[in-house]
Amino acid sequence: MHSYQQFYINGQWQTPANQDQSIAVINPANGEQIAITASADLADVDSAIGAAKKAFPEWSRASSQQRKQFIVAIADEMQNRLEDLSQAISQSMGCPIHHAREVQVQASIDAFREFADMTDYVDEAEHLENVTHFKVPIGVCVLINPWNYPLSQLVGKLGPAMATGCTVVVKPSEQTPLQDFIMAEIFAKVGVPAGVFNVISGYGHKIGEHLCAHVDVDMVSFTGSTAAGVKVAQASAPTIKRVCQELGGKSAMIITEDADLETAVTFGVGDVMFNSGQTCSALTRMLVPQSRYDEAVALAKNVAEQNIVGDPLNEKTTMGPLSSLAQKQRVLDYIHTGIKEGARIVTGGTETSPLLQNGAYVMPTIFADVGNEMTIAQQEIFGPVLCIIAYENEQQAIEMANDSVYGLASAVFAKDNQSAIHIARQIRAGQCYIQGGYFNTQGAFGGFKQSGNGREWGREGLREYVELQAVFSG
Ligand code: NAD
Repeated sequence: MHSYQQFYINGQWQTPANQDQSIAVINPANGEQIAITASADLADVDSAIGAAKKAFPEWSRASSQQRKQFIVAIADEMQNRLEDLSQAISQSMGCPIHHAREVQVQASIDAFREFADMTDYVDEAEHLENVTHFKVPIGVCVLINPWNYPLSQLVGKLGPAMATGCTVVVKPSEQTPLQDFIMAEIFAKVGVPAGVFNVISGYGHKIGEHLCAHVDVDMVSFTGSTAAGVKVAQASAPTIKRVCQELGGKSAMIITEDADLETAVTFGVGDVMFNSGQTCSALTRMLVPQSRYDEAVALAKNVAEQNIVGDPLNEKTTMGPLSSLAQKQRVLDYIHTGIKEGARIVTGGTETSPLLQNGAYVMPTIFADVGNEMTIAQQEIFGPVLCIIAYENEQQAIEMANDSVYGLASAVFAKDNQSAIHIARQIRAGQCYIQGGYFNTQGAFGGFKQSGNGREWGREGLREYVELQAVFSG
C-alpha cells in the first residue's frame, strides 16, 4: 500500500500540521484500500502558499529557455514513471489500465511537452503608437482538480503556469491524489527550484475555501462540479482574484436526417461510455430526427452492449467501475428518476452481474423516449447513461441543444462539413465536434454558461496565467 504522509512544500517533504488525520484511497473496482495520504489543515495551506509566494520573484524572472528546459526534463521523467502514474490512476478511479496508459498518462505527457514550446508567450509584446503591452505572469496560482482525468487536468493547468513563470499550489481530489505525489517526486528529482510546485492533499470542503480566499493567491484555476465552482468563486471574490472555472456539462449531439446514422451513433455512444461516462464534455443527449429514431435507438443498443465491463486491470476491459460507490449510487438514483419520469430503458439500468457486485459498476445504459425537459436530460449524471431525444426539425434540435444551463461541448453529424458548421455556429457551447472530430490539445477547451468561464490547452490556455501591463512612453 502506498503511503504519502507528508506534503511537498518548498522543495521538501513536510510533515502536516495535524498528523492525526489521514485520507484512505480506495480502489472502486473492489473496495480495497490502496493508499493513505495526509489530510491538510489550514496551516498547511498557509505554508504551501507562503512557499509559492517566496519562489515567485525568481522563477518569474527565469528565462523562457530555462523554463523550457525544466518542462522538457519533467516530461522526460514522467515518461520514465508512466507505469507508476498509470497504475495509480487506474487503481484509484477505476479506468481500464490500457486507457490509463494511453489516454490518461501518455496523452498528458505529450500535452505537457507541448507547453515547452510556449514559454516565449510571455516574451511577446504588442507595440501600438506610444504604448507597449507586456505580458506579466499572474503570480501564485492555486490549482484544484477533480478525479475523472486527474493527471490530464493537472497538466492542463500546470503546463501553462510553468510556461508563463507562475508558481503553484496544487490540490488534487481527495479520491485521486496519487499522481500529484508522483509529480512531486518528479519535480524533486529534476531539481525545479523550491516553491515553484507545492502539493497538498485534503478535503475540498475543509481547505478549499481557505485556498481560494487567501490574500497571497493571485489566481485560482478550478475544475469540478458547478456546485463547488460557485463556492470557489464566492470565496475568491473578496480578494478580486482571477478565477478560471471548468465545470459540468450536459452536452448535446445533433444528428441530421441526411447524416451517416451508423457512424454518428457509434461515435456518440462511444463518447458517452468512455471513462464510464465520467467525462465533463460527454455527449449525453443524442438528438435524432423522429423519422430515424427507432433505427438510432437500435444502433445505440447494439454499440453499448459491445462494451466489456469488468476488472480495469484486464487488458480486454473497455469499461471499468465508476470512481466510487457514492458515484455509483448517484448514477443509480438518476436511472431510477429517468424510469419514474417515463423514459424507456433500452439497455443497462440498475442491475449488474453478481460477478461485479464488489465494485462500483454501472452497466452502459441507454434511455429512449426522453423529453429534453426531463431531469435526466437536464442534469449532469456523470455515469454511462445516454439519453436519446427525438426532434421534428433542425431548428427545434438547435433550440433543444441550447435549452440547458450548461454549454460545455456539443457535436454535429450532418451530410457534410459545411452543413455541420452551419449548425455548430448556432450552438452555445465552448466546443463542437463535427463529423467525428476529436479534441486535440491545440484547441481551447472550456465552457459557456454554467459550464465555466476558463479556457485550457494550447496558447489560448496561457492567457489565464498572465496579466497585461501597458507601458506608455513620452
Ligand atoms: P467536485 O466539485 O466535488 O470536486 C472537485 C475538486 O474541488 C476536488 O478537488 C474537491 O476537493 C474540490 N472542492 C470541493 N469543494 C470545494 C470547495 N468548497 N472549495 C474548493 N474546492 C472544493 O467534483 P468531482 O466530483 O471531483 O468531479 C466531477 C465534476 O467535475 C463534474 O461535475 C464534471 O463535469 C466536472 N469536470 C469538469 C471539467 C471541465 O473541464 N469542464 C473536467 C472534468 C470534470
